[in-house]
Amino acid sequence: PSATANLKDKADRATNEQVLDPRTRLILFKMIGRGLLHTVNGCISTGKEANVYHAITPPEPTTASTVPNRHLALKIYKTSILVFKDRDKYVSGEHRFRRGYSRHNPRKMVRVWAEKEMRNLKRLTTAGIRAPEALEVRENVLVMDFLGDGDCWASPRLKDANPTKEECDNLYPELLLIVRTMFHQCKLVHADLSEYNILLHEGHLWIIDVSQSVEHDHPAAFDFLRNDLRNVEEFFGRRDVRCVGLRRAFEFVTRDMAANEDPTEVLQAWRDEPAPADEGHDSTIHEDEVFRKSYIPRTLNDLYDPERDAEALGDGKKPIYANTIALVNKDSAPQTEKSVRFDGEDLPASSNSEQEEEEE
Ligand code: ADP
Ligand code: MG
Repeated sequence: PSATANLKDKADRATNEQVLDPRTRLILFKMIGRGLLHTVNGCISTGKEANVYHAITPPEPTTASTVPNRHLALKIYKTSILVFKDRDKYVSGEHRFRRGYSRHNPRKMVRVWAEKEMRNLKRLTTAGIRAPEALEVRENVLVMDFLGDGDCWASPRLKDANPTKEECDNLYPELLLIVRTMFHQCKLVHADLSEYNILLHEGHLWIIDVSQSVEHDHPAAFDFLRNDLRNVEEFFGRRDVRCVGLRRAFEFVTRDMAANEDPTEVLQAWRDEPAPADEGHDSTIHEDEVFRKSYIPRTLNDLYDPERDAEALGDGKKPIYANTIALVNKDSAPQTEKSVRFDGEDLPASSNSEQEEEEE
């Protein structure tokens, strides 16, 4: 009963701040009624599209060893229609949005985003990427593990965490590997990756905020990926970390590697390469500049006129996207790495058993 009172207080306050509409409050009350939640505490974050609250589960039946409560984070999406208007760029071309995305019904729309965030979080944790475990989603409320200390303090965003130079030297390759695993195993591009959507928790990087993440074959996937990687290069570059440059980071993430190539070693070798003499550094920057501005077709079908592009670059030069294209063309690229297909993710897990067997 006191838990309910507590929630009611918080809920009233939040409602006054135009956050929790009656329907959302009902969802929370039901979660308490079912015993999923015990208390909903204060707001961890208020954002444009969602607010995040801290909550705890009821105490486990006491045996000597059980933890009394589990700390949870509730991401509650706002249901105002204006908020989700500028999300169209993620939606068009995304086959998971084929059905059920109604631009006219904000509640439905938000629900799709919340469900998508849950599924994407699951893809990440399944691939062994550090991300909060998603427990369930009900309409606009996503319940996940709280990343923080044993108390109620949330772990800091990478932006606020002030990691030392030495930590950054290790976090940079850790992050590029995460992006690579996301691309190849989860088949996702984060599409809003920056120091704002990464938490530094227990000395490692934890990925959050994946509702807008797109399939790796989304028509704009490479543009999103390039932006993500630019944020990564800039963040660590500002901290004097030896980075590989935008173009190489992109290659590192997207390229299929042979069975005997270890991505960690490949990256380390690139970072160890002696800095090019004289104008070398400038030319890397120039290369990155060209790369930043160039159009990256997602598939061979998107190529306007590759021969013309090749000609324009002169003899012996390849178009800037040549390597990228090779790995996108599914017929020609050798599938060297394990990959899971998620096309069936709308179906119950059992119908994927065939693929799971392949995995093992
Ligand atoms: P938004 O769409 O508002 O950016 P985020 O998913 O990025 O939503 O969450 C906003 C903030 O809430 C994060 O920057 C982080 O500080 C906090 N947060 C989100 N999820 C968790 C979590 N699982 N554990 C702890 N803090 C979290
Ligand atoms: Mg965020």
